[in-house]
Amino acid sequence: MNSYVQRVLDDTKQKYGHEKEFIQSVSEVLGSLNPLLDSESKYEQNCILERIVIPERVIIFQVPWIDAKGDIQVNVGYRVQFNSAIGPYKGGLRFHPSVNLGILKFLGFEQIFKNSLTTLPMGGGKGGANFDPKGKSDREVMSFCQSFMRELFRHIGPSTDVPAGDIGVGGREIGYLFGQYKKIVNSYDSVLTGKGTNWGGSQVRPQATGYGCVYFACEMLKTRKLDIAGKTVMVSGSGNVAQYAAEKAMQLGAKVISLSDSNGSIIDPHGIDAEKLAFIMELKNVRRGRIKEYVEKYPTATYYENQRPWRLAKCHIALPCATQNELDLDDAKVLVANGCFAVCEGANMPTTLEATQFLQSNDVLFSPGKASNAGGVATSGLEMSQNAIRLGWSSQEVDERLHGIMVNIHNAARNAAAEFGKPDDYVMGANIAGFRKVADAMIDLGI
Ligand code: NDP
Repeated sequence: MNSYVQRVLDDTKQKYGHEKEFIQSVSEVLGSLNPLLDSESKYEQNCILERIVIPERVIIFQVPWIDAKGDIQVNVGYRVQFNSAIGPYKGGLRFHPSVNLGILKFLGFEQIFKNSLTTLPMGGGKGGANFDPKGKSDREVMSFCQSFMRELFRHIGPSTDVPAGDIGVGGREIGYLFGQYKKIVNSYDSVLTGKGTNWGGSQVRPQATGYGCVYFACEMLKTRKLDIAGKTVMVSGSGNVAQYAAEKAMQLGAKVISLSDSNGSIIDPHGIDAEKLAFIMELKNVRRGRIKEYVEKYPTATYYENQRPWRLAKCHIALPCATQNELDLDDAKVLVANGCFAVCEGANMPTTLEATQFLQSNDVLFSPGKASNAGGVATSGLEMSQNAIRLGWSSQEVDERLHGIMVNIHNAARNAAAEFGKPDDYVMGANIAGFRKVADAMIDLGI
């Protein structure tokens, strides 16, 4: 390993070893910059690695709120403003009981390079709270969101920091957050993305991450003269990204056989069709139910409690779209043994480092989330552009732009990897292409 990379990695591990997801993501990014840093000394001369692994600013705050019984609840809120070299901070808000500073630092760090890959002017950030929307009434979620925004509003702005959704934060939460922001500042600022289309949102934003992931998978497959049509696809998760990854894969002729949530997975050997997907969308987005209810409606499917999809059936293509570290080395071994030839990450870092290395060394096409799930933030960037010019583009126009961006990200990652002799290494390519632009901007902007 390059000695500069090794030194910064060791130092980061020593200081932040307890933030294991953050260390995992720093190890992946820095580990793949070796060839670039071997050939360019300016990054070391400007201490870019030392600077890029430390957030520019972290805000941690108390979020008190009143539940339906009238009792006082309190959660911890965060915003990690990681890097603003190429634009205002941009990245989602996650509401999940597992949220802590280490997880948000990992997500914010990934976001820097993802946003750079989109070619849009967006810096990297992430935020959220250890709040669990599951089982809460709409009024309780509203009360929480309003309290969260009563602190966050002073740290964000259309040219400062523009949050969006993530796990546990969908259209409902963005609405409550934006309503509170607007009331406090008395201005219809473009300060959140993922808004509803009749109050400033973009067409195709809900679909963008999942669709973009499948567009990226198709580009990878093309490099081997393969087509997604007729292939069997496994998807994990059943939230925003999973639903639309499944929808696009189906539209392009694939057979999607799995979905999951944090309690278990379903396998439908007949494939999930448009009618079944509509049932899932109503189940998860409106009734906020559990994926196991799928088998009550469609008894030819099977539900597996506490299991992830990867070892439950055979597939050609895997799209992990739930959460971090949900595909480990043992899963990867089973996927390869069952003939899987492409893994395209819809979630952020769903594949462990060991599993990634195993897949790559077994010639599986593998794309890291920062490349293949960048369609969501790219379309958020398009939402900001539409807000700035006070116009809305049609679904077709946004979808075409999204498709073009995903093709460009694929080519940028592949070309950067090819420049250093490994065209199929999308991890290295995405990290180098994303890093170079941000690091060069940091140098231009001075210390
Ligand atoms: P949602 O909240 O809509 O859905 C998340 C899904 O993952 C749910 O099915 C959820 O199950 C499942 N899940 C959450 N935590 C776990 C866990 N610990 N173990 C197993 N399953 C879990 O979130 P999104 O679809 O928006 O996000 C999914 C992933 O995609 C995340 O990694 C996110 O960071 C990433 N992402 C999202 C983008 C977006 O635009 N939304 C953009 C780029 C990346 P349950 O219902 O039981 O909680």
